[in-house]
Amino acid sequence: MRHMAEIRFILGDQLHYGHSWYQEVRPDVHYVIAELRDELSYAPHHIQKMVGFLGAMWNFAAWLRKQGHQVHHFRIDDPAHPGDLEAVLRHVMQHTQATCWAYQEPDEYRLDQQLAQIAKNLQHPVRICSTEHFLTERGAVAELFKGKKTRVMETFYRDMRRKTGVLMDGKEPLGGQWNFDAENRKKWNGSPPLPTPKVFAHPVEDILEALERAGLRGWGEINPSAFIWPLTRKESLVLLQDFVTRLLPYFGAYQDAMTGQGWSLWHARLSFSLNTKMLHPMEVIQAVEQAYRARPGDIPLSAAEGFIRQILGWREYVRGIYWAEMPHYAQMNFLEHHRPLPSWYWTGETQMQCLKEAIGQTRKHAYAHHIQRLMVTGAFGLMAGVSPDEMDAWYLGAYMDAIEWVEMPNTRGMSQFADGGIMGTKPYLGSANYMHKMSDACSRCVYDKDQRHGDKACPLNALYWDFHLRQRDKLERNPRIGMVYRTLDKMDPEELERIRATAGRHLEGLEEL
Ligand code: FAD
Repeated sequence: MRHMAEIRFILGDQLHYGHSWYQEVRPDVHYVIAELRDELSYAPHHIQKMVGFLGAMWNFAAWLRKQGHQVHHFRIDDPAHPGDLEAVLRHVMQHTQATCWAYQEPDEYRLDQQLAQIAKNLQHPVRICSTEHFLTERGAVAELFKGKKTRVMETFYRDMRRKTGVLMDGKEPLGGQWNFDAENRKKWNGSPPLPTPKVFAHPVEDILEALERAGLRGWGEINPSAFIWPLTRKESLVLLQDFVTRLLPYFGAYQDAMTGQGWSLWHARLSFSLNTKMLHPMEVIQAVEQAYRARPGDIPLSAAEGFIRQILGWREYVRGIYWAEMPHYAQMNFLEHHRPLPSWYWTGETQMQCLKEAIGQTRKHAYAHHIQRLMVTGAFGLMAGVSPDEMDAWYLGAYMDAIEWVEMPNTRGMSQFADGGIMGTKPYLGSANYMHKMSDACSRCVYDKDQRHGDKACPLNALYWDFHLRQRDKLERNPRIGMVYRTLDKMDPEELERIRATAGRHLEGLEEL
């Protein structure tokens, strides 16, 4: 019997080479991959992010064709591009005489709504399929914590360890402990030598030209003849292998460390491959667990556990928070912050060395590791009272891996405390003391890390104390920050006044810092 044609729509972050859709080549199935103006402009994207997504989509379409599948790939600069998502689907339906269509569950609320509306408008039977990517369902976090006051990540993580058997010794955690984070907070003092990051060297002039023709421009830097990010599953696997072989042994110890001498240290840089689904989280977890079991003398358990917790724990957890809290999460502003983002977040032109370096490498590579995002750019925005909307928009554009389901809980929740403590139990802030403990930036900075007030003092110091004073009503009763208020109460009132005056000048003149 001849089947009626079916359309299957693939989003730019659904490049899952192992998905069951592709196991069988069917002449009646038409795959649709569309480069969409909306997707390339809904946030102020870094140029490398735009190029990375388009490059990975081009390669995925080529791979599907090579497998024998029929693919309708609409390039952004195609003069015959039908336009928005609905127009694309209508066009292909008409062209193929398809009578039904399917899409994979999108990870973003915005697209979920948009596709549901399109399904209504098209009035053709539609199937919504799993992306077969995540280890939990969208509602897993809401379900696990139903009726509970707090939703601690550690509880979710342990539940995941038990359910998956990852790093388990029967019913007990391997090594007798669930979490080895206390061993993972070393400063890097020049040794061991920093690893050279494994990078690719794709020529991407053609993608840049396509964007140019479409009138789309990103920000940040790019090397058109040597684009560094993986653009296929094969390359993503090379990056994973490199991580497990060379970087994993030191991942744990230097996970929180920062240095101007390197931009990715022992981090995996796998988030782009994971978030586009070129890699499956379980294959990454298994590669790390297998490496640990095969080389226990070389890879400390604290490194393997620390890394696995990020993917088995944090990554799935933030997704669950996102789906439990959207859409109101996107409006939350617990601390009532409304200041605009300083313009140097886009240029890196600030005198604060730690911010200059974190933003500088963001411009250069569309990458900063977690502690740079949380404790440098994030903590500054928080202490300066920048609007969480502006922070969200910046993070959503700045990084290769930025997709709202993972960006927003990390930014609005963990980093800006705009959700009032759904994600984290306290705001993450850092004075110069923290910065000096974890990074070498202070030694190259024009500001003095040891002064709290005056023109030469590191602005992080006055802003740190002033933030607590400004937010006293909302934070004083938080048991995790009580200490700070006790210290403040013991401070000499004149000293406090000088700190406040300095912070006031900083807040008035954020652009000049
Ligand atoms: P590694 O340090 O090597 O960690 C391994 C993997 O664990 C990552 O690839 C990632 O998949 C996962 N992971 C680690 N931490 C987290 C976390 N907190 N939440 C979810 N997954 C995690 N991550 C994104 O993938 N996309 C984002 O848009 C994003 N925005 C962030 C914004 C802020 C303000 C903060 C503080 C964090 C954000 N993160 C985001 C989380 C984290 O910083 C990145 O996943 C990580 O830096 C990616 O680099 P890596 O692959 O080298 O990670």
